[in-house]
Amino acid sequence: MSTLAYIGLGANLGDARQTIAAAINKLSHSSGILTLKQAPLYSSDPVDAQGPVFINTVVAIDTTLEPLPLLDLLQAIEQEHGRERPYRNAPRTLDLDLLLYGTLKIETPRLSVPHPRMHQRAFVLRPLQDLAPNLQLLQGSFSSLLAACQEQKLDRLLA
Ligand code: ATP
Ligand code: CA
Ligand code: CA
Repeated sequence: MSTLAYIGLGANLGDARQTIAAAINKLSHSSGILTLKQAPLYSSDPVDAQGPVFINTVVAIDTTLEPLPLLDLLQAIEQEHGRERPYRNAPRTLDLDLLLYGTLKIETPRLSVPHPRMHQRAFVLRPLQDLAPNLQLLQGSFSSLLAACQEQKLDRLLA
């Protein structure tokens, strides 16, 4: 049995596009990841953060991994790309967030799913909507949630 999960990716240090591509490639070839579908790339201005613009996207995966082993895998891929956490919202080479894991709700110190801030972020909502336009989020429709973050600058990148 497998579960449909969504992962948010972001990077704003180094060659961010290359890092995102390498991370997706790694994820797609990891054991327990059966299929992977990628949304288009976007660039966004940092929200409550510093540094250069972010490159963002979302991937949908079919996975046999349970949520914590999946988080372990995401964090191992971040580490391979030299992720450091000097302070909250610091610029980062790579950030991989588990957005949704089927319809499961998880509230533990290490893992909150659905990701508690995803619905406030245009750089998550837009690529997620591209991948799964009919998805129902607990907090409302894509159009109402995106309307509430209209002031967040977001550009779709050409392939
Ligand atoms: P934000 O969570 O607001 O996007 P961030 O991605 O910058 O902030 P991190 O420093 O990457 O935050 O992660 C801090 C901790 O959040 C991680 O060590 C991880 O255990 C925890 N965490 C809780 N829920 C999740 C989730 N759904 N996906 C990824 N990490 C999570
Ligand atoms: Ca994040
Ligand atoms: Ca994170």
